[in-house]
Amino acid sequence: MSTIAENLAAIRGRIRDAARAAGRDPASVALVAVSKKKPAEAIREAYAAGHRAFGESYAQELDAKARDLADLADIEWHFIGHLQSNKAKLVAAHARVVHSIDGAGLARELGRRVALAGRPKVGALIEVSVAGEAQKHGAPPSELGAVIEAVRAEASLDLRGLMTMPPAGDLDEARRTFEALAQLRDRHGGIAALPELSMGMSDDLEAGVAAGATLVRVGSAIFGAR
Ligand SMILES: *Cc1c(COP(=O)(O)O)cnc(C)c1O
Repeated sequence: MSTIAENLAAIRGRIRDAARAAGRDPASVALVAVSKKKPAEAIREAYAAGHRAFGESYAQELDAKARDLADLADIEWHFIGHLQSNKAKLVAAHARVVHSIDGAGLARELGRRVALAGRPKVGALIEVSVAGEAQKHGAPPSELGAVIEAVRAEASLDLRGLMTMPPAGDLDEARRTFEALAQLRDRHGGIAALPELSMGMSDDLEAGVAAGATLVRVGSAIFGAR
């Protein structure tokens, strides 16, 4: 079995190869190591190998791990899971970036909670269900403009871009979904307004990078099956 450090190196290699194949600078694609359902010790191991950005999907789990790992001063928490407004306080206490804002109400509550916590601005990405109902979460494309306005209205949130998560197990569908997200970005102000695209996971990060991802969220290929 490979170690977490070896897996991280392999993923960085895949990102580099995919970026080069797409004519992109590999440094323009950041890796979020998705540590959900994995113990804090696994995160320490990745941190010791030099990794800093970690993704969590559950608010309580993020809270517990962030407390547990508070000694890792420059660790960077990304919240990537479905978030209900009543859990926004937990996420606001720890996250540097939230990838999964899917409505105006959540944007307002998260903004309020970050401000109350007195934390620096939190990076905000809007999750979009570009493929329609096959995707469990995310704002429909027709609501994207309104969610963008709601995020922009929060002084404690820094609008960074868009995120999507395609239905599992179909690479062609994933590719179409990623391309659709990039087109949606172009219709809502382009790179100047929405510089980041969070798309691509263990099985489809190459497709994400080919379509313009600046953030890929990789879990099982680093930490093993969940
Ligand atoms: C779990 C998860 C990932 C990572 O998926 P892997 O297939 O393990 O790489 C990425 N994004 C989100 C939103 C997730 O929930």
